[in-house]
Formats: sequence, structure tokens, C-alpha cells
Amino acid sequence: MKGSVTVVGLGPGDEAMVTPEVTQALARATDILGYTPYVARIAPRDGLTLHPSDNREELARAAHALDLAAQGRQAVIVSSGDPGVFAMASALFEALEAAPHHLGVQIAILPGITAMLAAAAAAGAPLGHDFCAINLSDNLKPFALVEHRLRMAARGDFAMGFYNPRSASRPHQFARVLEILREECEPQRLILFARAVSTPQQTIRTVTLAEATPEMADMRTVVILGNSATRRVGEWVYTPRSSGTLP
Ligand code: SAH
Repeated sequence: MKGSVTVVGLGPGDEAMVTPEVTQALARATDILGYTPYVARIAPRDGLTLHPSDNREELARAAHALDLAAQGRQAVIVSSGDPGVFAMASALFEALEAAPHHLGVQIAILPGITAMLAAAAAAGAPLGHDFCAINLSDNLKPFALVEHRLRMAARGDFAMGFYNPRSASRPHQFARVLEILREECEPQRLILFARAVSTPQQTIRTVTLAEATPEMADMRTVVILGNSATRRVGEWVYTPRSSGTLP
């Protein structure tokens, strides 16, 4: 049987948010590769080999999946959320570029519900108009580039979703992010801290930019900043479909 690599998104946590095509791919897999906590979501069974690995080993993991596929195995790489959003799909194509002898391997990328969209739905519709997503981690890019993109997006009056806002290894950068946003946006701008979305630990906290503190975010939080028109209606937060201001 011809081998394959399928990169799947497991969604934000709730099993009801795993798509049927992802469930089918997992059922057909002979090998599951991924960051340890994501692989832990997969039930072991006969004929299935689990390959958990560290989160800094993305390229090696992708190369391993291509090798397994070349041996005729059905390798599935699991990501949380969507595999194309700050996750394994790009890493797979980087590995493929570095190993062109694998260009004949059958590949499929199966989308999932990304954290910012699950968080937005739980809060209302804060991303109801133009928005962008920024990964605040400087693992793969200089922090100066994070700062630049943030400032430009704020000047463009985009609503924004921030991934990887704050970790133990870089506790100060999110404070700098809030500082830049306060320079560019009005103090009443709404900002949402959505933690462990779609799990039993889910919390969503909406405050103004003036009230926001760095401690409100951790690595299980996706942060959503509204645009200049984002507002509350009852318990909900939404961004009108026609909104935004020119500088
Ligand atoms: N591919 C994933 C993102 C991986 S980066 C996706 O599409 O969602 C990891 C970051 O995603 C975390 O630091 C956090 O910012 C966000 N995240 C992932 N799952 C989350 C959840 N259930 N609730 C809140 N944020 C989450």
C-alpha cells in the first residue's frame, strides 16, 4: 500500500470540534506524530505507533513522517487547532523542500478550528470585520518584527488575534506588546483573554486596554484585540461588519 503523510488539526480541545475527515484520517493511521500533549489526545490501539516529541522538534518530526510514508506507512501529524496556523503544515513543506526525493509522497492537510475562531465564537463576534493573526513568540523571528507588525496592524485598525502571548521563558515581551498597543490605540479599546477555549477550564475575560495586565495571558490563552468599533452588547462582544477608521 502506498504511504502517505496527513497533517491534521485537532481543534481547540473539545472532541466535538474535531472534523469527521480528521477522525477518519486518525482511524486509518499507522503512525501518529506530534507534540507530546497533542499525541496524548489520541487513544492507543493495536497497529498504531505513537511518536510524541518536543515542541522544538518540528522539522525533525516532519522529516520522520516523510520517511515513514516512503516506507508505505500512513503517517498522521497532529496539531492543535488548525495545522496551517503557527503549526505543522508549513514545517512539513519545509522538510519536503529539504528532501526533494520525497516529492512523490502523497500528502494531505486537513483543516481544524483554530483557537482565535473558537474564542471569537465563544465571546460573540469580535472578528466580525477585517482581522489578522500574529504569533507573539520570537522562537522563529526576531521580536523587533513582532513589534513592527503589531504597530502596523494597529495603525490599519485591524482586530487581531495573538497566539503564544506569554511563556515562562519570555515573561516580559507581552508587557511590551501591551505598551505598543497603548501607544497606538485608545485606552477604551476592548481586549479579550480567552483561556483553554472549549475545555472544562475555559475562561474568557474582556477588559479595556487600559485595564489589561500581562498576567492576564499565559501559553493557554489566545488574546483578541478589537478594532476601534468593537463593542459590548449585553454579555457579548462584537465588531460591526462595516467598521474601522483611517488614520
Ligand atoms: N495551531 C494552533 C495554534 C498553535 S500555537 C491553532 O490553530 O489554534 C499555540 C497557541 O495557540 C497557544 O499559545 C494559544 O495562544 C493558542 N491556543 C491553542 N489552543 C487554545 C485554546 N484551547 N484556548 C486558547 N488558546 C489556545
